[in-house]
Amino acid sequence: MSSWSGRRVDHVGIAVRDLDAALAFYRPLAGPPSHRELVAGDGVEVAFLKLGETELELLASRGPDSSVQRFLERRGEGLHHLALGVADLTAELAEWRARGALLIDEVPRPGARGRQVAFIHPTSAMGVLVELCQRAS
Ligand code: ZN
Repeated sequence: MSSWSGRRVDHVGIAVRDLDAALAFYRPLAGPPSHRELVAGDGVEVAFLKLGETELELLASRGPDSSVQRFLERRGEGLHHLALGVADLTAELAEWRARGALLIDEVPRPGARGRQVAFIHPTSAMGVLVELCQRAS
């Protein structure tokens, strides 16, 4: 079980309808974004806000078929995913697979900020969409 050690909450993802309005809302709480990026492959624009040891990731849809757009239509704005920072994403995915988890990404793929990411389906994590992201070392 050694590969399970060392993980931590890397960030909490929040789906928003209007990214600029959300940034204005969070600015008194967390200051300006540390990073903002259009992730064209996912049809989303994201902004990261440092908040102590962890970060918030605000996600806005930039495509009609994006998963964030579907989320907003189904559930409205709100908590979207929990991201765990891990040291070895490939090993972590193997652990989740061995536990019978439904993997949205069978292999790591590029995410925001040039990091490797993979998502676990909420049905395998007590209703929470889990993002695994390999920490920058
Ligand atoms: Zn994320």
